[in-house]
Amino acid sequence: MHKAPAHKARKRFGQHFLSDQTIIEKIINIINPQKHDHIIEIGPGKGALTIPIIKSVNKLNVIEIDKDLVNFLKKTIDSELLVIHENDALKFNYSKLNHSDLRIIGNLPYNISTPLLFHLLSYKNLIKEMLFMLQKEVVERICAKCGTKQYGRLSVTLQYYCNVESLLVIKPDAFNPSPKIDSAIIKIVPLVQPRYKLNSDESFKIIVREAFSQRRKTIRNGLKNYLNEDEIEKIGIPLNERAENLHIKDFVKLSNLYYQLQNN
Ligand code: SAM
Repeated sequence: MHKAPAHKARKRFGQHFLSDQTIIEKIINIINPQKHDHIIEIGPGKGALTIPIIKSVNKLNVIEIDKDLVNFLKKTIDSELLVIHENDALKFNYSKLNHSDLRIIGNLPYNISTPLLFHLLSYKNLIKEMLFMLQKEVVERICAKCGTKQYGRLSVTLQYYCNVESLLVIKPDAFNPSPKIDSAIIKIVPLVQPRYKLNSDESFKIIVREAFSQRRKTIRNGLKNYLNEDEIEKIGIPLNERAENLHIKDFVKLSNLYYQLQNN
């Protein structure tokens, strides 16, 4: 390991570096890296997680957007086991790593967490598990149950395709600079066999997005450009229900109906 020049945290890249060694150890225990794991770390930063992980694995891929941090890592971690991709995790082609059992981890930059989760879902068949630190509020939204205030597009989409579990809340003082809000670690495991049969991912995406685009609207109004009242009633969904009270199974039914009507 060599000494690298000090790095000033960049707001635009959501840089809050983990500095609490006890918390870092707890996170490493949760990740529990194994020799043959195909781990990709998003946003390695100054290596708070990267350095301990690399001690346990045969190879570690990391994706970092900040050129200065890429140079910092190259100077600090002198290891052939580390493969640094200077790239945007939102645009990265995860299939180019040629593995179908990826473990994707990271203390994610909060400003890109939602689009990144949707981007990663398009690679779900290649992903065994994701362990991310996110804003606590986003973790709560992902894990929210039907009928709650937090239940929305993120909950329905992620819970349809994956098992999700909130693992640990982390306070702002574990980071430097400290964020203003609490963070939490979430485990997201893509399902090999989703719970309900969906005819089209694209129809599901449209129906879930539209149904939640105006939360206060009833399904009848929220989906009026996509499905008419008779069609919705025929599959047993009350027209006056709001999206936040519909179960994942209902969204699957609505999406399959929409797909069927589009393709008839
Ligand atoms: N892993 C380090 C830690 O825990 O101390 C840093 C975490 S910091 C919250 C987020 C990291 O993601 C930063 O290193 C930042 O430069 C990087 N980052 C931000 N946007 C990114 C993007 N679109 N693609 C890849 N990395 C990104």
